[in-house]
Amino acid sequence: MDFFDLAAVFGKLESTTKRLELTDDLAKLFKEADKRDAKVLAYLCQGVLLPDFHGVEIGLGDKLTAQAIALVAGKPIKEVEASYRKSGDLGDTAASMLEKKTQQNLANSSLSVRKVYDNFYKIATSGGEGSQDTKIKLLAELLSNSSPLEAKVIVRFVTGNLRLGIAEPTILDALSTMAVGDKSLRPDLERAFNLRSDLGLVAELFINQGIEEIHKIGPEPFFPIRPALAERLESAAAIVEKLGRCAVEAKYDGFRIQVHKNGDEVRIYSRRQEPMTDMFPDVVKAVRVQIKAKQCIFEGEAIAYNDATGEFLPFQATIQRKRKHGVAAKAEELPIKLFAFELLYADGKDLTQLAFKERRRRLEKIVKKGDVIAPADYILVKTGAELEKYFDTCVGAGLEGIIAKDLKAPYTAGARKFAWIKFKRSYRGALADTIDAVIVGYYEGKGKRTKFGFGGVLTAIYDEENNRFRTIAKVGSGFDEKEMAQYKEMLDKILVKEKPANVDSIIGADYWVKPQFVVTLNADELTRSPMHAAALGKLPHKDEGLALRFPRLVQLRTDKTAKDATTEREILELFELQKRASSIVEGGE
Ligand code: AMP
Repeated sequence: MDFFDLAAVFGKLESTTKRLELTDDLAKLFKEADKRDAKVLAYLCQGVLLPDFHGVEIGLGDKLTAQAIALVAGKPIKEVEASYRKSGDLGDTAASMLEKKTQQNLANSSLSVRKVYDNFYKIATSGGEGSQDTKIKLLAELLSNSSPLEAKVIVRFVTGNLRLGIAEPTILDALSTMAVGDKSLRPDLERAFNLRSDLGLVAELFINQGIEEIHKIGPEPFFPIRPALAERLESAAAIVEKLGRCAVEAKYDGFRIQVHKNGDEVRIYSRRQEPMTDMFPDVVKAVRVQIKAKQCIFEGEAIAYNDATGEFLPFQATIQRKRKHGVAAKAEELPIKLFAFELLYADGKDLTQLAFKERRRRLEKIVKKGDVIAPADYILVKTGAELEKYFDTCVGAGLEGIIAKDLKAPYTAGARKFAWIKFKRSYRGALADTIDAVIVGYYEGKGKRTKFGFGGVLTAIYDEENNRFRTIAKVGSGFDEKEMAQYKEMLDKILVKEKPANVDSIIGADYWVKPQFVVTLNADELTRSPMHAAALGKLPHKDEGLALRFPRLVQLRTDKTAKDATTEREILELFELQKRASSIVEGGE
Protein backbone atom coordinates (compact mmCIF):
# COMPACT_ATOMS: atom_id res chain seq x y z
CA MET A 1 0.00 0.00 0.00
CA ASP A 2 1.22 3.48 -0.84
CA PHE A 3 1.76 5.66 2.17
CA PHE A 4 0.11 8.48 0.25
CA ASP A 5 -3.25 6.69 0.39
CA LEU A 6 -2.89 6.11 4.12
CA ALA A 7 -1.86 9.73 4.71
CA ALA A 8 -4.95 10.90 2.79
CA VAL A 9 -7.22 8.81 5.02
CA PHE A 10 -5.37 9.96 8.17
CA GLY A 11 -5.76 13.58 7.04
CA LYS A 12 -9.51 13.00 6.80
CA LEU A 13 -9.71 11.07 10.08
CA GLU A 14 -7.93 13.87 11.93
CA SER A 15 -10.83 16.18 11.20
CA THR A 16 -13.64 13.70 11.96
CA THR A 17 -15.00 13.18 15.41
CA LYS A 18 -18.07 11.24 14.37
CA ARG A 19 -17.57 7.67 15.45
CA LEU A 20 -19.66 6.13 12.64
CA GLU A 21 -17.80 7.99 9.94
CA LEU A 22 -14.48 7.00 11.48
CA THR A 23 -15.49 3.36 11.60
CA ASP A 24 -16.61 3.29 7.98
CA ASP A 25 -13.51 5.07 6.71
CA LEU A 26 -11.30 2.68 8.64
CA ALA A 27 -13.22 -0.37 7.44
CA LYS A 28 -12.67 0.81 3.86
CA LEU A 29 -9.00 1.34 4.56
CA PHE A 30 -8.54 -2.22 5.85
CA LYS A 31 -10.52 -3.61 2.94
CA GLU A 32 -8.47 -1.83 0.29
CA ALA A 33 -5.08 -2.46 1.90
CA ASP A 34 -2.77 -5.31 1.05
CA LYS A 35 -3.48 -8.12 3.53
CA ARG A 36 0.19 -8.26 4.44
CA ASP A 37 -0.05 -4.68 5.76
CA ALA A 38 -2.91 -5.44 8.19
CA LYS A 39 -0.74 -5.58 11.29
CA VAL A 40 1.24 -2.44 10.57
CA LEU A 41 -1.93 -0.57 9.62
CA ALA A 42 -3.60 -1.45 12.91
CA TYR A 43 -0.59 -0.16 14.86
CA LEU A 44 -0.30 3.07 12.84
CA CYS A 45 -4.02 3.77 13.34
CA GLN A 46 -3.48 3.45 17.08
CA GLY A 47 -0.56 5.89 16.78
CA VAL A 48 1.95 3.28 17.98
CA LEU A 49 4.66 1.11 16.44
CA LEU A 50 4.02 -1.91 18.63
CA PRO A 51 1.74 -2.67 21.57
CA ASP A 52 2.82 -0.94 24.78
CA PHE A 53 4.22 -4.12 26.31
CA HIS A 54 7.15 -4.04 23.88
CA GLY A 55 8.24 -0.72 25.34
CA VAL A 56 9.05 0.71 21.88
CA GLU A 57 8.21 4.40 21.61
CA ILE A 58 9.12 6.72 18.79
CA GLY A 59 8.75 10.09 20.61
CA LEU A 60 11.27 12.03 18.50
CA GLY A 61 11.95 15.47 19.98
CA ASP A 62 11.04 18.65 18.13
CA LYS A 63 14.72 19.58 17.82
CA LEU A 64 15.80 16.48 15.91
CA THR A 65 12.68 16.60 13.77
CA ALA A 66 13.34 20.24 12.90
CA GLN A 67 16.89 19.30 11.90
CA ALA A 68 15.61 16.64 9.51
CA ILE A 69 13.19 19.13 7.97
CA ALA A 70 15.99 21.69 7.58
CA LEU A 71 18.22 19.10 5.93
CA VAL A 72 15.64 18.14 3.33
CA ALA A 73 14.41 21.70 2.71
CA GLY A 74 17.99 22.90 2.33
CA LYS A 75 17.26 25.73 4.77
CA PRO A 76 18.95 26.81 8.00
CA ILE A 77 17.47 25.30 11.15
CA LYS A 78 16.63 28.84 12.37
CA GLU A 79 14.16 29.20 9.50
CA VAL A 80 12.42 25.94 10.40
CA GLU A 81 12.17 26.98 14.03
CA ALA A 82 10.77 30.39 13.09
CA SER A 83 8.13 28.79 10.92
CA TYR A 84 7.28 26.35 13.73
CA ARG A 85 6.86 29.20 16.19
CA LYS A 86 4.40 30.80 13.79
CA SER A 87 2.38 27.71 12.90
CA GLY A 88 2.57 25.99 16.27
CA ASP A 89 2.67 22.65 14.47
CA LEU A 90 5.81 21.01 13.13
CA GLY A 91 3.73 18.93 10.72
CA ASP A 92 2.38 22.10 9.06
CA THR A 93 5.88 23.55 9.00
CA ALA A 94 7.21 20.44 7.26
CA ALA A 95 4.39 20.50 4.72
CA SER A 96 4.94 24.14 3.77
CA MET A 97 8.75 24.10 3.82
CA LEU A 98 9.03 20.95 1.80
CA GLU A 99 6.39 21.83 -0.75
CA LYS A 100 8.70 22.95 -3.54
CA LYS A 101 11.38 20.43 -2.79
CA THR A 102 9.14 17.42 -2.72
CA GLN A 103 7.29 18.20 -5.91
CA GLN A 104 10.54 17.76 -7.80
CA ASN A 105 11.12 14.39 -6.22
CA LEU A 106 7.67 12.94 -6.33
CA ALA A 107 7.83 11.75 -9.89
CA ASN A 108 10.77 9.51 -8.95
CA SER A 109 9.58 7.56 -6.02
CA SER A 110 6.65 6.83 -3.84
CA LEU A 111 6.72 5.69 -0.25
CA SER A 112 5.13 2.45 0.80
CA VAL A 113 3.45 2.02 4.18
CA ARG A 114 6.06 -0.68 4.92
CA LYS A 115 8.98 1.61 4.20
CA VAL A 116 7.59 4.33 6.45
CA TYR A 117 6.93 1.83 9.24
CA ASP A 118 10.41 0.31 8.91
CA ASN A 119 12.09 3.70 9.18
CA PHE A 120 9.88 4.64 12.14
CA TYR A 121 10.87 1.42 13.82
CA LYS A 122 14.57 2.06 13.25
CA ILE A 123 14.21 5.61 14.58
CA ALA A 124 12.54 4.28 17.71
CA THR A 125 15.07 1.54 18.35
CA SER A 126 18.41 3.10 17.42
CA GLY A 127 20.35 4.06 20.50
CA GLY A 128 23.85 4.78 21.69
CA GLU A 129 26.55 6.88 20.18
CA GLY A 130 25.71 8.53 16.85
CA SER A 131 22.08 7.49 17.11
CA GLN A 132 20.84 11.07 16.86
CA ASP A 133 22.40 11.42 13.43
CA THR A 134 20.97 8.07 12.39
CA LYS A 135 17.50 9.16 13.48
CA ILE A 136 17.75 12.43 11.56
CA LYS A 137 18.90 10.60 8.44
CA LEU A 138 16.10 8.03 8.63
CA LEU A 139 13.50 10.75 8.99
CA ALA A 140 15.10 12.88 6.26
CA GLU A 141 15.00 9.90 3.90
CA LEU A 142 11.24 9.64 4.38
CA LEU A 143 10.66 13.38 4.12
CA SER A 144 12.65 13.73 0.94
CA ASN A 145 10.38 11.19 -0.72
CA SER A 146 7.09 12.50 0.52
CA SER A 147 4.43 14.91 -0.66
CA PRO A 148 3.47 17.79 1.68
CA LEU A 149 0.54 15.78 3.05
CA GLU A 150 2.72 12.74 3.73
CA ALA A 151 5.38 14.94 5.35
CA LYS A 152 2.76 16.43 7.64
CA VAL A 153 1.49 13.02 8.76
CA ILE A 154 5.02 11.62 9.18
CA VAL A 155 6.19 14.56 11.29
CA ARG A 156 3.07 14.49 13.46
CA PHE A 157 3.49 10.76 13.98
CA VAL A 158 7.15 10.85 15.00
CA THR A 159 6.57 13.73 17.40
CA GLY A 160 3.47 12.10 18.88
CA ASN A 161 1.11 14.81 17.62
CA LEU A 162 -1.08 12.91 15.18
CA ARG A 163 -4.61 13.66 16.31
CA LEU A 164 -6.34 10.65 14.89
CA GLY A 165 -8.58 9.98 17.84
CA ILE A 166 -9.06 6.34 17.00
CA ALA A 167 -9.84 4.36 20.12
CA GLU A 168 -9.35 0.61 20.20
CA PRO A 169 -13.09 -0.19 20.15
CA THR A 170 -13.41 1.80 16.91
CA ILE A 171 -10.66 -0.23 15.24
CA LEU A 172 -12.37 -3.46 16.35
CA ASP A 173 -15.71 -2.18 15.00
CA ALA A 174 -13.98 -1.31 11.73
CA LEU A 175 -12.49 -4.80 11.37
CA SER A 176 -15.91 -6.35 11.92
CA THR A 177 -17.57 -3.91 9.51
CA MET A 178 -14.94 -4.63 6.88
CA ALA A 179 -15.72 -8.36 6.98
CA VAL A 180 -19.48 -8.57 7.55
CA GLY A 181 -20.82 -5.04 7.04
CA ASP A 182 -21.77 -4.50 10.70
CA LYS A 183 -20.34 -4.62 14.24
CA SER A 184 -21.54 -8.14 15.05
CA LEU A 185 -18.02 -9.62 15.26
CA ARG A 186 -16.76 -6.97 17.69
CA PRO A 187 -17.32 -9.09 20.84
CA ASP A 188 -15.32 -12.00 19.35
CA LEU A 189 -12.51 -9.70 18.23
CA GLU A 190 -12.57 -7.86 21.54
CA ARG A 191 -12.23 -11.10 23.50
CA ALA A 192 -9.07 -11.93 21.56
CA PHE A 193 -7.73 -8.40 22.03
CA ASN A 194 -8.45 -8.49 25.77
CA LEU A 195 -6.47 -11.71 26.14
CA ARG A 196 -3.44 -10.57 24.11
CA SER A 197 -3.43 -6.74 24.18
CA ASP A 198 -2.17 -6.74 20.61
CA LEU A 199 -4.46 -5.16 18.00
CA GLY A 200 -1.96 -5.80 15.20
CA LEU A 201 -1.99 -9.50 15.97
CA VAL A 202 -5.79 -9.58 16.02
CA ALA A 203 -6.08 -7.61 12.75
CA GLU A 204 -3.50 -9.74 10.99
CA LEU A 205 -4.97 -13.05 12.08
CA PHE A 206 -8.54 -11.97 11.34
CA ILE A 207 -7.85 -10.52 7.90
CA ASN A 208 -5.62 -13.34 6.77
CA GLN A 209 -7.22 -16.37 8.41
CA GLY A 210 -10.72 -15.43 9.46
CA ILE A 211 -12.81 -15.46 12.61
CA GLU A 212 -12.17 -19.18 13.35
CA GLU A 213 -8.54 -18.39 14.15
CA ILE A 214 -9.66 -15.50 16.37
CA HIS A 215 -11.79 -17.93 18.36
CA LYS A 216 -8.71 -20.06 19.01
CA ILE A 217 -6.79 -17.24 20.67
CA GLY A 218 -6.09 -17.75 24.37
CA PRO A 219 -3.70 -16.25 26.91
CA GLU A 220 0.01 -16.79 26.39
CA PRO A 221 2.97 -15.84 28.57
CA PHE A 222 4.50 -12.50 27.58
CA PHE A 223 1.27 -11.20 26.06
CA PRO A 224 -0.31 -9.20 28.91
CA ILE A 225 -4.00 -9.70 29.52
CA ARG A 226 -6.08 -6.52 29.78
CA PRO A 227 -7.15 -6.02 33.37
CA ALA A 228 -10.54 -6.73 34.86
CA LEU A 229 -11.95 -3.64 36.59
CA ALA A 230 -14.22 -3.21 39.57
CA GLU A 231 -17.72 -1.75 39.77
CA ARG A 232 -19.05 0.13 42.80
CA LEU A 233 -22.13 -0.18 45.01
CA GLU A 234 -23.31 2.10 47.77
CA SER A 235 -23.29 -0.25 50.77
CA ALA A 236 -22.21 -3.62 52.12
CA ALA A 237 -25.83 -4.75 52.06
CA ALA A 238 -26.21 -3.80 48.39
CA ILE A 239 -23.08 -5.83 47.54
CA VAL A 240 -24.36 -8.97 49.23
CA GLU A 241 -27.76 -8.47 47.67
CA LYS A 242 -26.10 -8.36 44.24
CA LEU A 243 -23.63 -11.23 44.65
CA GLY A 244 -25.17 -13.47 47.30
CA ARG A 245 -22.54 -15.43 49.20
CA CYS A 246 -19.26 -13.97 47.98
CA ALA A 247 -15.55 -13.67 48.53
CA VAL A 248 -14.26 -10.45 50.05
CA GLU A 249 -10.61 -9.53 49.62
CA ALA A 250 -8.54 -6.84 51.22
CA LYS A 251 -8.02 -3.91 48.84
CA TYR A 252 -4.36 -2.97 48.96
CA ASP A 253 -3.52 0.54 47.79
CA GLY A 254 -0.41 -0.18 45.79
CA PHE A 255 0.55 -0.85 42.23
CA ARG A 256 -1.20 -3.48 40.16
CA ILE A 257 1.14 -5.78 38.29
CA GLN A 258 0.73 -8.78 36.05
CA VAL A 259 3.44 -11.39 36.33
CA HIS A 260 4.28 -13.75 33.47
CA LYS A 261 6.48 -16.77 33.98
CA ASN A 262 7.79 -19.27 31.49
CA GLY A 263 10.40 -21.52 33.08
CA ASP A 264 13.01 -19.24 34.57
CA GLU A 265 12.01 -16.28 32.49
CA VAL A 266 9.85 -13.80 34.37
CA ARG A 267 8.36 -10.58 33.04
CA ILE A 268 6.25 -8.00 34.78
CA TYR A 269 3.71 -5.60 33.27
CA SER A 270 1.80 -2.62 34.64
CA ARG A 271 -1.97 -2.38 34.43
CA ARG A 272 -1.40 -0.45 31.21
CA GLN A 273 0.71 -3.29 29.85
CA GLU A 274 3.99 -1.41 30.02
CA PRO A 275 7.06 -3.56 30.69
CA MET A 276 8.20 -3.18 34.32
CA THR A 277 10.44 -6.20 34.81
CA ASP A 278 13.56 -4.12 35.39
CA MET A 279 11.91 -2.14 38.17
CA PHE A 280 11.12 -5.15 40.36
CA PRO A 281 14.21 -7.41 40.58
CA ASP A 282 13.05 -8.49 44.06
CA VAL A 283 9.70 -9.66 42.72
CA VAL A 284 11.33 -11.47 39.79
CA LYS A 285 13.55 -13.34 42.20
CA ALA A 286 10.66 -14.22 44.47
CA VAL A 287 8.56 -15.51 41.56
CA ARG A 288 11.35 -17.95 40.64
CA VAL A 289 11.43 -19.23 44.21
CA GLN A 290 7.84 -19.00 45.36
CA ILE A 291 5.73 -19.87 42.31
CA LYS A 292 5.41 -23.57 41.69
CA ALA A 293 3.89 -23.48 38.18
CA LYS A 294 6.36 -23.78 35.30
CA GLN A 295 4.32 -21.42 33.19
CA CYS A 296 1.78 -18.98 34.51
CA ILE A 297 0.18 -15.56 34.40
CA PHE A 298 -1.02 -14.05 37.65
CA GLU A 299 -1.98 -10.64 38.97
CA GLY A 300 -1.44 -8.95 42.26
CA GLU A 301 -1.04 -5.66 44.05
CA ALA A 302 2.54 -4.69 44.86
CA ILE A 303 2.73 -2.56 47.97
CA ALA A 304 5.71 -1.11 49.78
CA TYR A 305 5.97 -1.75 53.50
CA ASN A 306 8.07 -0.70 56.40
CA ASP A 307 10.45 -3.54 57.14
CA ALA A 308 10.83 -2.56 60.80
CA THR A 309 7.15 -2.15 61.70
CA GLY A 310 5.54 -4.33 59.02
CA GLU A 311 3.15 -1.47 58.18
CA PHE A 312 1.98 -0.87 54.63
CA LEU A 313 3.08 2.40 53.11
CA PRO A 314 0.84 4.80 51.18
CA PHE A 315 0.59 4.73 47.41
CA GLN A 316 3.00 7.69 47.12
CA ALA A 317 5.72 5.50 48.64
CA THR A 318 5.03 2.44 46.48
CA ILE A 319 4.99 4.52 43.32
CA GLN A 320 8.59 5.53 43.97
CA ARG A 321 9.51 2.01 42.88
CA LYS A 322 8.41 2.97 39.36
CA ARG A 323 11.77 4.21 38.14
CA LYS A 324 14.51 3.50 35.64
CA HIS A 325 17.54 4.47 37.73
CA GLY A 326 18.63 3.61 41.21
CA VAL A 327 16.41 0.53 41.19
CA ALA A 328 18.46 -1.61 43.59
CA ALA A 329 18.78 1.11 46.23
CA LYS A 330 15.05 1.86 46.16
CA ALA A 331 14.24 -1.86 46.39
CA GLU A 332 16.28 -1.98 49.56
CA GLU A 333 14.72 1.17 50.98
CA LEU A 334 11.15 0.25 50.02
CA PRO A 335 10.74 -3.52 50.00
CA ILE A 336 7.61 -4.83 48.37
CA LYS A 337 4.99 -7.37 49.23
CA LEU A 338 3.03 -8.77 46.35
CA PHE A 339 -0.52 -9.80 47.18
CA ALA A 340 -1.62 -12.14 44.42
CA PHE A 341 -5.34 -11.99 43.64
CA GLU A 342 -5.81 -13.68 40.27
CA LEU A 343 -4.42 -16.68 38.45
CA LEU A 344 -5.24 -16.42 34.77
CA TYR A 345 -3.14 -19.06 33.11
CA ALA A 346 -1.14 -22.00 34.37
CA ASP A 347 0.85 -24.70 32.64
CA GLY A 348 -0.81 -24.46 29.25
CA LYS A 349 -4.34 -23.87 30.54
CA ASP A 350 -6.50 -20.79 30.07
CA LEU A 351 -8.11 -20.23 33.48
CA THR A 352 -9.91 -16.99 32.63
CA GLN A 353 -13.16 -18.84 31.97
CA LEU A 354 -13.19 -20.70 35.28
CA ALA A 355 -15.28 -19.47 38.19
CA PHE A 356 -13.42 -17.17 40.60
CA LYS A 357 -13.66 -19.76 43.35
CA GLU A 358 -11.72 -22.25 41.26
CA ARG A 359 -9.14 -19.72 40.12
CA ARG A 360 -8.56 -18.70 43.73
CA ARG A 361 -8.18 -22.36 44.80
CA ARG A 362 -5.51 -22.91 42.13
CA LEU A 363 -3.80 -19.64 42.99
CA GLU A 364 -3.38 -20.73 46.60
CA LYS A 365 -1.92 -24.01 45.41
CA ILE A 366 0.84 -22.52 43.28
CA VAL A 367 2.16 -19.93 45.79
CA LYS A 368 4.75 -21.34 48.19
CA LYS A 369 5.13 -19.59 51.52
CA GLY A 370 7.83 -16.95 51.39
CA ASP A 371 8.80 -13.37 52.18
CA VAL A 372 7.51 -11.51 49.15
CA ILE A 373 4.45 -13.14 47.58
CA ALA A 374 1.27 -14.18 49.34
CA PRO A 375 -2.32 -14.64 48.18
CA ALA A 376 -4.46 -11.60 49.04
CA ASP A 377 -6.19 -11.89 52.38
CA TYR A 378 -9.83 -12.94 51.98
CA ILE A 379 -12.91 -14.31 53.65
CA LEU A 380 -16.26 -15.67 52.50
CA VAL A 381 -19.34 -13.78 53.64
CA LYS A 382 -23.06 -14.37 53.53
CA THR A 383 -24.40 -11.13 55.00
CA GLY A 384 -23.87 -7.40 54.73
CA ALA A 385 -22.96 -7.31 58.43
CA GLU A 386 -20.12 -9.82 57.93
CA LEU A 387 -18.87 -7.84 54.97
CA GLU A 388 -19.01 -4.61 56.94
CA LYS A 389 -17.04 -6.15 59.79
CA TYR A 390 -14.27 -7.36 57.50
CA PHE A 391 -14.24 -3.95 55.82
CA ASP A 392 -13.70 -2.28 59.21
CA THR A 393 -10.86 -4.68 59.98
CA CYS A 394 -9.16 -3.87 56.66
CA VAL A 395 -9.56 -0.12 57.11
CA GLY A 396 -8.30 -0.48 60.68
CA ALA A 397 -5.17 -2.14 59.27
CA GLY A 398 -4.54 0.92 57.09
CA LEU A 399 -5.89 -0.57 53.87
CA GLU A 400 -8.09 1.16 51.35
CA GLY A 401 -11.15 -1.04 51.75
CA ILE A 402 -12.28 -4.29 50.20
CA ILE A 403 -13.09 -5.83 46.84
CA ALA A 404 -16.00 -8.27 46.82
CA LYS A 405 -15.80 -10.99 44.21
CA ASP A 406 -18.52 -13.04 42.58
CA LEU A 407 -17.59 -16.66 43.31
CA LYS A 408 -19.07 -17.90 40.06
CA ALA A 409 -17.82 -15.24 37.65
CA PRO A 410 -15.12 -15.75 35.00
CA TYR A 411 -12.26 -13.24 34.77
CA THR A 412 -13.68 -10.23 32.92
CA ALA A 413 -10.57 -9.20 30.97
CA GLY A 414 -10.61 -5.58 29.82
CA ALA A 415 -14.07 -4.91 31.29
CA ARG A 416 -15.66 -3.29 34.30
CA LYS A 417 -18.28 -5.74 35.50
CA PHE A 418 -20.02 -6.69 38.75
CA ALA A 419 -17.72 -9.73 39.01
CA TRP A 420 -15.66 -7.39 41.24
CA ILE A 421 -17.23 -4.71 43.41
CA LYS A 422 -15.06 -2.27 45.31
CA PHE A 423 -15.99 -0.62 48.56
CA LYS A 424 -13.62 2.00 49.85
CA ARG A 425 -13.03 4.11 52.89
CA SER A 426 -14.06 7.23 51.00
CA TYR A 427 -17.55 5.72 50.61
CA ARG A 428 -18.50 7.08 53.93
CA GLY A 429 -18.27 10.61 52.54
CA ALA A 430 -20.86 11.96 50.15
CA LEU A 431 -18.86 11.11 47.03
CA ALA A 432 -18.59 7.35 46.81
CA ASP A 433 -15.07 7.20 45.41
CA THR A 434 -12.16 9.34 44.41
CA ILE A 435 -12.01 10.26 40.75
CA ASP A 436 -9.07 9.95 38.41
CA ALA A 437 -9.24 12.91 36.07
CA VAL A 438 -7.01 14.08 33.22
CA ILE A 439 -5.49 17.55 33.25
CA VAL A 440 -6.45 19.40 30.06
CA GLY A 441 -5.44 22.92 30.99
CA TYR A 442 -4.26 25.20 33.75
CA TYR A 443 -4.83 28.67 35.16
CA GLU A 444 -2.47 31.47 36.02
CA GLY A 445 -2.29 32.20 39.68
CA LYS A 446 -4.21 35.10 41.13
CA GLY A 447 -3.55 36.91 44.40
CA LYS A 448 -1.07 35.01 46.51
CA ARG A 449 -0.44 32.56 43.72
CA THR A 450 0.65 35.12 41.14
CA LYS A 451 4.28 34.47 41.94
CA PHE A 452 3.93 30.79 41.00
CA GLY A 453 2.19 31.49 37.68
CA PHE A 454 -0.10 28.65 38.65
CA GLY A 455 -3.53 28.76 40.20
CA GLY A 456 -4.97 25.34 39.47
CA VAL A 457 -5.90 22.87 36.76
CA LEU A 458 -8.86 22.14 34.52
CA THR A 459 -9.61 18.43 34.59
CA ALA A 460 -11.68 16.02 32.53
CA ILE A 461 -13.06 12.52 32.59
CA TYR A 462 -12.89 10.10 29.65
CA ASP A 463 -15.68 9.09 27.28
CA GLU A 464 -14.24 5.79 26.08
CA GLU A 465 -16.79 5.06 23.36
CA ASN A 466 -16.10 8.34 21.58
CA ASN A 467 -12.52 8.82 22.73
CA ARG A 468 -13.14 12.29 24.16
CA PHE A 469 -12.17 14.09 27.34
CA ARG A 470 -14.99 16.09 28.98
CA THR A 471 -14.29 18.59 31.73
CA ILE A 472 -15.61 17.98 35.21
CA ALA A 473 -13.74 20.33 37.56
CA LYS A 474 -11.46 23.31 38.00
CA VAL A 475 -9.16 22.28 40.84
CA GLY A 476 -7.24 24.80 42.92
CA SER A 477 -7.06 23.13 46.35
CA GLY A 478 -4.74 20.47 47.55
CA PHE A 479 -1.56 21.88 45.97
CA ASP A 480 1.22 23.02 48.27
CA GLU A 481 3.73 25.62 47.09
CA LYS A 482 6.25 23.08 45.93
CA GLU A 483 3.61 21.19 43.99
CA MET A 484 2.39 24.34 42.26
CA ALA A 485 5.86 24.90 40.85
CA GLN A 486 6.18 21.22 39.90
CA TYR A 487 2.82 21.10 38.15
CA LYS A 488 3.58 24.26 36.21
CA GLU A 489 6.91 22.90 35.05
CA MET A 490 5.41 19.54 34.12
CA LEU A 491 2.50 21.09 32.22
CA ASP A 492 4.57 23.69 30.40
CA LYS A 493 6.29 20.81 28.58
CA ILE A 494 3.02 19.69 26.98
CA LEU A 495 1.38 23.04 26.16
CA VAL A 496 -0.73 23.25 23.03
CA LYS A 497 -1.90 26.43 21.32
CA GLU A 498 -5.61 25.71 21.35
CA LYS A 499 -8.07 23.48 23.13
CA PRO A 500 -7.12 19.97 21.97
CA ALA A 501 -9.50 18.52 19.39
CA ASN A 502 -10.46 15.61 21.64
CA VAL A 503 -11.41 17.80 24.61
CA ASP A 504 -14.97 19.03 25.29
CA SER A 505 -15.04 22.09 27.47
CA ILE A 506 -17.55 24.86 27.97
CA ILE A 507 -15.20 27.01 30.03
CA GLY A 508 -11.79 28.22 28.93
CA ALA A 509 -8.33 27.73 30.39
CA ASP A 510 -5.40 30.16 30.48
CA TYR A 511 -3.23 27.40 29.01
CA TRP A 512 -4.32 24.22 27.28
CA VAL A 513 -2.23 21.05 27.52
CA LYS A 514 -2.22 17.66 25.87
CA PRO A 515 -4.50 15.32 27.86
CA GLN A 516 -1.75 13.22 29.44
CA PHE A 517 -1.42 13.57 33.21
CA VAL A 518 -3.91 11.89 35.52
CA VAL A 519 -4.67 13.16 39.02
CA THR A 520 -6.74 11.55 41.75
CA LEU A 521 -9.35 14.00 43.06
CA ASN A 522 -11.55 13.98 46.08
CA ALA A 523 -14.73 16.03 46.27
CA ASP A 524 -17.80 16.50 48.39
CA GLU A 525 -20.21 15.37 45.72
CA LEU A 526 -21.19 15.43 42.09
CA THR A 527 -23.52 18.26 41.13
CA ARG A 528 -25.36 19.19 37.97
CA SER A 529 -23.72 22.13 36.29
CA PRO A 530 -24.08 24.12 33.07
CA MET A 531 -20.33 24.88 33.20
CA HIS A 532 -18.95 21.40 32.60
CA ALA A 533 -19.13 19.02 29.67
CA ALA A 534 -19.00 15.69 31.56
CA ALA A 535 -22.23 13.75 30.94
CA LEU A 536 -23.62 16.68 28.95
CA GLY A 537 -26.67 15.52 26.99
CA LYS A 538 -27.01 12.41 29.14
CA LEU A 539 -28.99 13.95 32.00
CA PRO A 540 -32.68 14.91 32.03
CA HIS A 541 -31.72 18.58 31.48
CA LYS A 542 -29.94 18.56 28.17
CA ASP A 543 -27.87 21.67 28.88
CA GLU A 544 -26.44 20.43 32.18
CA GLY A 545 -23.37 18.34 32.74
CA LEU A 546 -21.84 17.03 35.95
CA ALA A 547 -19.22 18.79 38.05
CA LEU A 548 -17.29 18.01 41.21
CA ARG A 549 -18.26 20.12 44.20
CA PHE A 550 -15.23 21.30 46.22
CA PRO A 551 -12.70 19.22 44.34
CA ARG A 552 -9.29 18.67 45.97
CA LEU A 553 -6.11 17.24 44.59
CA VAL A 554 -5.12 13.97 46.26
CA GLN A 555 -2.15 12.96 44.16
CA LEU A 556 -0.61 12.61 40.71
CA ARG A 557 -1.16 9.12 39.28
CA THR A 558 1.95 8.36 37.29
CA ASP A 559 0.84 4.75 36.86
CA LYS A 560 -2.20 5.81 34.83
CA THR A 561 -2.45 7.29 31.36
CA ALA A 562 -5.24 9.52 30.09
CA LYS A 563 -7.33 6.57 28.95
CA ASP A 564 -7.27 5.08 32.47
CA ALA A 565 -9.11 8.09 33.83
CA THR A 566 -12.54 7.60 35.35
CA THR A 567 -14.97 7.18 32.46
CA GLU A 568 -18.11 9.14 31.76
CA ARG A 569 -20.14 5.97 32.30
CA GLU A 570 -18.60 5.55 35.77
CA ILE A 571 -19.40 9.18 36.60
CA LEU A 572 -23.03 8.63 35.66
CA GLU A 573 -23.08 5.52 37.85
CA LEU A 574 -21.46 7.40 40.73
CA PHE A 575 -24.13 10.06 40.37
CA GLU A 576 -26.79 7.35 40.69
CA LEU A 577 -24.97 5.83 43.70
CA GLN A 578 -24.86 9.23 45.33
CA LYS A 579 -28.62 9.64 44.91
CA ARG A 580 -29.23 6.21 46.44
CA ALA A 581 -26.74 6.80 49.28
CA SER A 582 -28.31 10.13 50.19
CA SER A 583 -31.73 8.54 50.31
CA ILE A 584 -30.31 5.96 52.77
CA VAL A 585 -28.90 8.76 54.91
CA GLU A 586 -32.14 10.69 54.77
CA GLY A 587 -33.93 7.48 55.71
CA GLY A 588 -31.92 7.61 58.94
CA GLU A 589 -29.25 4.92 58.56
P1 AMP B 1 -9.60 1.21 41.65
O1 AMP B 1 -8.22 1.49 41.12
O2 AMP B 1 -10.00 2.06 42.81
O3 AMP B 1 -10.64 1.16 40.55
O4 AMP B 1 -9.64 -0.28 42.27
C1 AMP B 1 -9.28 -1.40 41.54
C2 AMP B 1 -7.82 -1.70 41.82
O5 AMP B 1 -7.64 -2.17 43.14
C3 AMP B 1 -7.26 -2.83 40.98
O6 AMP B 1 -6.91 -2.38 39.71
C4 AMP B 1 -6.04 -3.24 41.81
O7 AMP B 1 -4.94 -2.43 41.44
C5 AMP B 1 -6.40 -2.85 43.23
N1 AMP B 1 -6.54 -3.99 44.15
C6 AMP B 1 -6.06 -4.02 45.42
N2 AMP B 1 -6.35 -5.17 46.03
C7 AMP B 1 -7.04 -5.92 45.15
C8 AMP B 1 -7.64 -7.21 45.20
N3 AMP B 1 -7.59 -7.97 46.28
N4 AMP B 1 -8.26 -7.67 44.09
C9 AMP B 1 -8.35 -6.91 42.98
N5 AMP B 1 -7.80 -5.67 42.88
C10 AMP B 1 -7.15 -5.17 43.95
